[in-house]
Amino acid sequence: MVSIEKIQNMMRRIYFARDAERGAERTYRWFKEEVEELGDAMRKSDREALENEFADAVAWLASLANVLQVNLETAILRKYDNHCPKCSSSPCKCTFKREKVKQSSAAVDPRQ
Ligand SMILES: [Zn+2]
Repeated sequence: MVSIEKIQNMMRRIYFARDAERGAERTYRWFKEEVEELGDAMRKSDREALENEFADAVAWLASLANVLQVNLETAILRKYDNHCPKCSSSPCKCTFKREKVKQSSAAVDPRQ
């Protein structure tokens, strides 16, 4: 089974020299752009394009983690470890609250 760590290592083998030269800030901007493209693909009905954008977003996230020397798998498992970090349940039992300060109707996700 392919792990997140193996994917991150694969991206390191393929791209680390270029990623390191580009640096964290510019790599982060590429990652953000790929997330935007994922959002665009999500609103269309092209399954292949959607899957490609997921791949790009994860690839750039792995590149950014490599530049910043963060082990994605360790970070994810340390925070989530098979349960919600806020309510410690799986599935999550958090109650979503409306954010009153910003008068936004967006729900607050416990992952934030
Ligand atoms: Zn929860």
